[in-house]
Amino acid sequence: MNPTSRLRTRQRLRRLLLLLSFVLLPVTLYYFSPVLVLGAASEGVVNGSLLVFALMLAGALFLGRLWCGWGCPAGGLQDCATLVNDRAVPGGRCNWIKWGIWIPWVALIAVLAIRAGGLHGVDPFYGLEGGVTLDIPEDPSAPPWYLIYFIVVGLFLGLALLIGRRAGCHYVCWMAPFMIIGRKVSNLVRGPALRLTARPDLCTNCLTCNRHCPMSLDVNVMVRSGTMDDSECILCLSCVDGCPRQVFSLRYDRLGPGVHSRRTEGAGAAQDFPCRPVHTTE
Ligand code: SF4
Ligand code: SF4
Repeated sequence: MNPTSRLRTRQRLRRLLLLLSFVLLPVTLYYFSPVLVLGAASEGVVNGSLLVFALMLAGALFLGRLWCGWGCPAGGLQDCATLVNDRAVPGGRCNWIKWGIWIPWVALIAVLAIRAGGLHGVDPFYGLEGGVTLDIPEDPSAPPWYLIYFIVVGLFLGLALLIGRRAGCHYVCWMAPFMIIGRKVSNLVRGPALRLTARPDLCTNCLTCNRHCPMSLDVNVMVRSGTMDDSECILCLSCVDGCPRQVFSLRYDRLGPGVHSRRTEGAGAAQDFPCRPVHTTE
């Protein structure tokens, strides 16, 4: 197999994994629930979704946001939406919207847990009899699981269709901040992790990487500035696999030349022009 077809195969595999994850969402939905965790915390219980969020944070120490690029059902759904709307989305300060959701939500979890006398039990199947979302028995006092399912799908799909590429990941995802924090801690302590590196000397500024990036990052600017680490990068490797000059590579390494951490939220042009989309020329 020549290198080009091997790379295409890798992206096909990635899309397949994301699609599979989305198809399984009726089974896994409540393991990502931002609501179930509140009920569990108020009883002092660590539930399945809190365990998943903790795993995301711990995993991001070594793998960054690999989950977003390769495993997230909402990511798979939004990638499908690019068939209808493939516009780059505004980054920069707009990325802070999700923190406006995340910080009060995490504070509420903490308050509920403190009022319950702390977290004193672990139940991965809390509120999930049988361990599968669509198996939950009907409870007249609670909304049915499929209603929640359609709300979540509608939210992420609607944002992607209305605004553009993975808008839900940028603006509303309650899971992304866990992984961003994990990555930032890893950068801070200079721990080894999966990282993108680039060779600016090989870059011809063709902007193929910008067109391929599902997170609308200005990858070209990242390459030229020698700062390949960005909190919105999901390590999907679309830029790596799409580059005709093999500018990029993936390394398990500490921060160093070519992978220095960017300032903070938002990438490339979006960093210089807050809330404006990255524009690429064909
Ligand atoms: S940002 Fe959130 S919705 Fe998007 S891929 Fe990551 S976990 Fe999924
Ligand atoms: S910079 Fe590359 S690896 Fe990161 S999200 Fe964009 S295309 Fe994917």
